[in-house]
Formats: sequence, C-alpha cells, structure tokens
Amino acid sequence: MNDTTAPSAAREHTVESFTREFLREVNFGQGVDLDRASTNDKYLALARTVRAYLTTRWLETLRTQRREQKKAVAYMSAEFLLGRQLENNLLATDLGEIARDSLDLLGIDLVELCNTEIEPGLGNGGLGRLAACFVDSLATENVPSIGYGIRYEYGIFRQRFEDGRQVEEPDEWLRLGSPWEMPHPENAVKVGFGGRVEAWKDESGRAHRRWSPDWHVTGVPYNYMVPGYRNGRVNTLRLWSARATQAFDLAIFNAGDYTDAVRAQTQAENISKVLYPEDSTPQGKELRLQQQYFFVACSLRDFVEKVLPEDFDLHRLPERITFQLNDTHPVIAVPELMRLLIDERGWEWADAWAVTQKVFAYTCHTLLPEALEVWPVDLLGRLLPRHLEIIYRINEEFLEQVREAFPGDMLRERHMSIIAEEPVRSVRMAYLATVAGAKVNGVAELHSQLLRDKVLSDFAEMFPHKFTNVTNGVTPRRFMALSNPRLSALITEAIGEGWVTDLERLRELEPLADDAEFRRRFREVKSHNRARFAGVIAERDGIEISPDAMVDAMVKRLHEYKRQSLKLLHIVSLYERITSGALPLADVTPRTFVFGAKAAPGYVRAKETIALINAVGRTINADASLEGRLKVAFPANYNVTLAETLIPAADLSEQISQAGKEASGTGNMKFALNGALTVGTDDGANVEIRQLVGDDHFFLFGMDEPAVSDLQASGYRSASYYEQDKDLRAALDMIASGAFTGGDRGSFVSSITASLIERDRFMALADFRAYVDAQERVEAHWADQEAWTRSAVLNVARSGYFSSDRSIRDYLARIWNA
Ligand SMILES: *Cc1c(COP(=O)(O)O)cnc(C)c1O
Repeated sequence: MNDTTAPSAAREHTVESFTREFLREVNFGQGVDLDRASTNDKYLALARTVRAYLTTRWLETLRTQRREQKKAVAYMSAEFLLGRQLENNLLATDLGEIARDSLDLLGIDLVELCNTEIEPGLGNGGLGRLAACFVDSLATENVPSIGYGIRYEYGIFRQRFEDGRQVEEPDEWLRLGSPWEMPHPENAVKVGFGGRVEAWKDESGRAHRRWSPDWHVTGVPYNYMVPGYRNGRVNTLRLWSARATQAFDLAIFNAGDYTDAVRAQTQAENISKVLYPEDSTPQGKELRLQQQYFFVACSLRDFVEKVLPEDFDLHRLPERITFQLNDTHPVIAVPELMRLLIDERGWEWADAWAVTQKVFAYTCHTLLPEALEVWPVDLLGRLLPRHLEIIYRINEEFLEQVREAFPGDMLRERHMSIIAEEPVRSVRMAYLATVAGAKVNGVAELHSQLLRDKVLSDFAEMFPHKFTNVTNGVTPRRFMALSNPRLSALITEAIGEGWVTDLERLRELEPLADDAEFRRRFREVKSHNRARFAGVIAERDGIEISPDAMVDAMVKRLHEYKRQSLKLLHIVSLYERITSGALPLADVTPRTFVFGAKAAPGYVRAKETIALINAVGRTINADASLEGRLKVAFPANYNVTLAETLIPAADLSEQISQAGKEASGTGNMKFALNGALTVGTDDGANVEIRQLVGDDHFFLFGMDEPAVSDLQASGYRSASYYEQDKDLRAALDMIASGAFTGGDRGSFVSSITASLIERDRFMALADFRAYVDAQERVEAHWADQEAWTRSAVLNVARSGYFSSDRSIRDYLARIWNA
C-alpha cells in the first residue's frame, strides 16, 4: 500500500517569488493595497499563498492515486481536533524561512499572522486530536488515505470563567474566513431521513425492500489538504456541511410567513451546526444520530461514486479500501453500506455481508460502560427505519452463529445480542461494530487486554482473530518540531536531521543524558519554554507565574475518572500542612500547578470541580504567607494552541486516572516527548511509557487495575480512608469548612466533599496516600536538578515509540493489510 509520490514538478519558491505571490493574494485575493491591509487580510493572503503551493502537490497526489488505484484507508471520525493550520503547513512544506524572510522585507511579523488564526476546534479532546495526528501521519507515511468527518459551524465551545465558574461561549471559528477549505457544492450528496420501508417485487418475482425517506438533507463536501512532512504527498480531509435540499418555500414566504418558509432549511442546517461537547459520556440525542448518519452516508456515497472509478465492481471493494471507524460514532455506516448494496444495487444479502465484513474495522476508545453508545430502537427506527431492519437481520444471523457455537447457552445469547432489552430496547453500537468489523482494536496494550477480558470478552472468545491492539501516538511534527523549536534544534544538533519522521532515533540521545553540558543546555531549553509559557498566560489570561518554579501540569478534559479531584486534594493537603505548621515553608518545593480542562456543559460534578479548583487557586495565590512558593494557574479554554506552549514548558505530567479507566491517553505521550516526567497510575499508555522510560524515571503510584477490581468486589468504603488518614481528613475538612469559598460551606463545596467521602466512584481517597508519597519522591528527585534533567532527557530519548507514525505502521501491518 505504501507508495512514493514523485516530487512535483512545480516551481520552487524563492523569497522573491513568494513575495510576489503574497502581494498578489493581498491585492487580488483580499482586494486591498498592502498599506491598507489589516492583519487578517495579511493572514488570509499568506494562508492562500501557502495553500497554492500545497495545491500543486495535492493535485499531483490525486492524479497518482487515480492512476495507480492502490488500496487506501478512509479514516471516519466525528471529530478532528486539528489545531492551527498555517504554522503546520509552513513546517510541512519547509516554507517557514522563506515566508519569514519575505514578510520581514515587507515589515510584517510572521508570528503575529500565525497567531491571528482561530484554531478549528472540531473535536472534544483526545479522540478528536488522535484523528488529527493520524491524518498527519498517514500523509507522512505516504499512505493513500482520506479523512471523513463533519464541518461543524461551531466547534468545541470557548470556555470562560466567571467568578471561577465555567461559562460556555460559541466558538465562531469561521468568523474571519477560512482559507484552508475548498467547498464543492457541485459534488453535494443527498441524504434521507425518516419515512417508511416498502416491499416490492421485481419482474422475476424477487422480493426487495425500498426506503422512502420523508425528508432530505444535502451534504456539501469541504476539502482540506493534509500535507505529509516534506514528502510531496498531500492527502485529503473531507468534511461535510449540511444544507437544505430546497432553500426555502417561496409560496409560504410570499404568503408572509418568513419563519415558516425557512423552517426546513433551519432543520437541515442544524445537523452540522455544532459539535456535541460531551467527552466520554454520550447523551443519545436525536440530532447526534442525525449527524452520525449524515456524515457516513455522505462519505460512503462519495467514496463509492466519486473516488472509485465509475464502472468499479464493488465486489472488489475490500481490495481498495478499509473504512476505519473511530469509535462507535460512524458505526451506522455498516447498515448503510448493506442498504446501498442490497436496496440500491440489488445484491443478495450474503454477498453484501461478505463485502461489508471485510471493509470495516473498529477502534474502541473506552472502558467506561456509560460511554458505550446505544441508540433506542424507537429513535433509530423513526429516523432510519431501513437501517433498523438491517441491524435486526444482522443480529438474527449473528445470534444463530452464537447458538451454533455455544448450544444451549441462553444467557450468553442475551449478553451478546446487538439489541439490548434493558432499560429500553436499544442498539449497542460497539457490538454491531464488533460483529461487522474485520478487526477490533483497543488503543493501548492494557486497554486492548481489558477489552478482550472484560468489555467484549464474549466476542473475543468467539472471534479471537478479530482482536488486536494499536497503541496510540502523537505527531512529532506538531508536538515537537512546531511547538518546541528549541528542543528540536538541540536534538538535531546532537543526532542530526531525520528524527522528525523516524522518532525511534531519539534513542541516540541516551548517552547524552550523562553529558553535563548537554543537560545544561536541555535545562536552558526548558527554562526558555517556561518563560515563553509564562508570557503567554500573562498576556492571554492575566496570570502571573514564576518562570523558575516547577511546572506541574494536569491538562485534559474534566472527568471524574481522570481524577482532577485527587490532584486538588494533594494541593489542599500541602496548603493545610503549611498553614497548620506541620510543613515548614522552607521544605516546600516552589511549584506552579497548571490546570487546563473543559467540562461538558451538562456535567454538574465536573463543573463544580472547576469552580473548586478556581476557589482553591484564588485562596492560595492570594496568601502572602506562602511567599509565592505555591501557585495555581488555571488558564481558561484549554485547546491545542495552548497545549503547544504549555507542554514544552512542563516539568511534571499528571496522569492519575483510576487504573483501568483511561483507555490510552495521548497527553501523557506529548509530555514525555517534551521532557516532562510523569507521575501516573498503571493505566492506559502510562504502562507502556513506564516500561520504556524505566521505573527510575517515572513516578508510579496507586492501585493497579486488578487491585481496583478486587477492592470494588470486596466493597469499597471511602469513608474509612477519610477516617484513618489524618492529612486526607484535614484536607477534606478544610474544603468543607469553606476555607476557599469565603466561609461558604454550601453549594459545590458540600456536594463535592460529601460525594468523595460517601461514594468516591473512582477511588481517589484510596489512592491519596500513595499519591502524596509519590509527590514526595518527585520533590526529592527535583531537588537534584542534575538527576532530574538526566531523567527528563531519558524520557525524550525513550519515547520515540509514541509517534503516531508508528501507530499508523501498526494499523497497516495489523489491520489495513489484513
Ligand atoms: C492531547 C490533547 C488531549 C488529550 O489529553 P489526555 O490527557 O490524553 O486526555 C485533549 N485536549 C487537547 C487540546 C489535546 O491536545
């Protein structure tokens, strides 16, 4: 499947030609003179200049693919958390220096233009960012591929704090224009919803089913270019935007009712209006199912009718494509492909099923039962009646297979049914994906093991060959080369070029961990990055931090299983011990605790936790008796752009989820690659990070997954930890006393403390002592800066495995060529 695209014959840019193109875009693209151009005009002109350069290579890539017709991968994902495009595209094309020199001559600051860009936040967190890393690596690994998703008009909300509480504002990312996308309304696809299914017979008397939807939506494709890193390949990301099939009803409009005239239009366009801001806990809303079906129906039709040659024999579809399903969000593609083949092309069921089973593969992203998507049969049947019929038939045939394999095992049959009966009759999308997919993968070794042993154990027993692992990764382009230029330069100076696309080469840094001069320079880079981060949050958020204190970062979505509350208990306990005199100030390591986290708008406990972190932060930051040794920094609106300045500055990475709950994590990888040490549980990819970097350079703590299961089974009583650990009790009591809320003991203070003491669903209290001990090991290690730097260098040197290029190679070997 790998191929090498011949380098394009397009002209190479010089500073002169680049300047000419740029000025042309200012004049003819933006329609202004340079001396009248706004910053946004210049940003758009620069973006289009780079885009034109990319386009040449993109068209060449498309021509090659049409000529060679190699097997491709379609990565289907409801989210792509892309981050800013301009800098990344300058990096990939190696146009950065030319652009800077060219703009310098015109007296324009390149950095300012880059910072003008509003990042496309078309994802929630890790899952969406993974999809963005994967399309980057697919292009860089030279894999013919296409990403399919939704062009949300509003991405993940912008977070503000008002009195410490989260306020959500719409993310108007398209407000200033969107130079990276190319709409193609002429390639629009019509998608149906609702209606009825009828039986009919053809001339030969064969029975068929026909779906007559009662409303339609048009999907307009928007193409984005995804450049490989300096390899000439530019792949496509195709995001769908929903339009009404008819703009509005002129008759109703003429009769004077404007609102009614545009009702259908509004309903249709709502489908791609806004990203659902839930992470890990889907809400099961009808509009979300509409979004899911909308984008997979558009994508399948696009692939079959536009990407493949006109007369292509679909029996050979598995030779041309794997549809990789990023979680269950695109799984409705399974019955949709069956419907296309059977109803629209007249295939027999068995033939359609044989092809379907070969072209889909499913990536599972969770272990939380509440995160496994189910759709009530009522809702699904109303919106997609034909698809529900097909799902029923898939299930019937599957259960027949179960009965054959396990005769008389009625319980197993009920457990494995794609249709759940309780609490309401629903379709279990993960089961449908597992039955239909050629492969099912988890996203870290431990996660894949737990999928086999627990979440999908019956399926793993029945289809052992389907189950595999592909550990997640992150792109070293964005998360090292782009975001950490100083470290990148130091690495290149030490081991030469080439590591950006061959990250295992970071191993060559290992001997330098013992080189005092290298360590000094490494510390200098960290120190510079801390100062850069301090500058950014001073300007962005008005937060002042010391550039010398340890940067201890916990940034990720706010979720109880991730246990931001455990981090908070550590901070409060430190503060309580200082103020009660148990801990002399001189013994306190100067630290900045950095939080970044959005809470789903409807997730009350998560929002309370944000309010509490801010309340604790306000108190600690204002307490002069601490002499500035402890500081809590919680910049609002954590996103990819903020991650890019925070992560290179971090010294300590907090990865403290309850063992067995975080499928992989990718934040953990970004931090290790940038020389932060991890304090973490034995969870997700932490396990693999620790194995690679070594126990001496990783702070492991807490219960592992079997210990969690045992404690759960024997009856976890959190109150006993509260009663028996006096520091823990003092910390919780301090919160409950209103010490951080101006004496107010009500509202979120009592509800958070009570829920921890009485229930503590993710066992934060059980891990508290081990966590505090681990933090003391952190401080002891930090006190020896040479030893710490040595560990930090080894973290970088040994984390090359976590490149998403390696993930893509694993997908190729284990899934896409299978
Ligand atoms: C990497 C990343 C995440 C995922 O972080 P985890 O710690 O793995 O949950 C979330 N949000 C953003 C902006 C990221 O860049």
